[in-house]
Amino acid sequence: MTYSEFIRKTSNELTNIYCESEANSISKMLAQDLFKADNTSLIIQNSIILDPDIKEKYWNYISLLKRGVPVQYVLGYSFFYGYRFNIENGVLIPRQETEELVDWIIKDHKKEESLSILEVGTGSGIIAIILAMELLKPKIMGIDISEKAIEVTNSNIQKFKLKNISVEKQDLFDFKSNIMFDIIVSNPPYVREFEKRLMESLVLEHEPHQALFVNDDNPLVYYEAILKLAQINLCSGGVGYFEINESLGNELESMITNLGFKMDALRRDINNKPRMIRFYK
Ligand code: GLN
Repeated sequence: MTYSEFIRKTSNELTNIYCESEANSISKMLAQDLFKADNTSLIIQNSIILDPDIKEKYWNYISLLKRGVPVQYVLGYSFFYGYRFNIENGVLIPRQETEELVDWIIKDHKKEESLSILEVGTGSGIIAIILAMELLKPKIMGIDISEKAIEVTNSNIQKFKLKNISVEKQDLFDFKSNIMFDIIVSNPPYVREFEKRLMESLVLEHEPHQALFVNDDNPLVYYEAILKLAQINLCSGGVGYFEINESLGNELESMITNLGFKMDALRRDINNKPRMIRFYK
């Protein structure tokens, strides 16, 4: 079969749950995964062969995708900031807006050496690990309440063979450490319960609610706890970065100021939504 026949056949299998363009891009991801080659090399091959092993894997993928399982959980990985991360059911799938947050931090600090950095709520470890790889000899600590997050982050730390990063199971509301951090970063849960109705079922049915949702009446609960932690464990002159709910920027700015920090910048993402905050102590 030719590559384009494979893509057509696979897209057809998926059109009940995905629109055409999504079905097409998922089919390409499957092709790259199954044939261990990029799309360009697959196109120039005259034919691709589905041997029995690949066939079994293929139908397994298709049946999971038809049940609505996100492709990143089906394949067990996702790309973030140009790197391939292990991703499993139980941790959030990386989002593009988070890439923008990471990029901001790297641009701000790429010339500084040996920074001590805390990430609160590491999930799969994407933020902490990119910072560990892109900054100059930083020392990074990640915390998360979820065992699964710790496990997936550790698998990614091993995958990239990193020595300058550790991850611990810790409750943010009971955080204890005698380390003083130069930078604290977090992408905590910030989607309000009432916003669930605006979300895709793919997210609602498969991604961890613990990493996404907050009560409608106290949506900044995690930010407040992180700021209180920063009152103790962030160096004076240290900097904090948050990914935020686009509707809660102003409220969060007031909270940052009221808790004694200097609000610095509210940044918009590529879709022009206010999505990231930087503050100083
Ligand atoms: N941006 C994510 C979403 O819309 C939410 C991430 C979070 O709650 N921290 O699904």
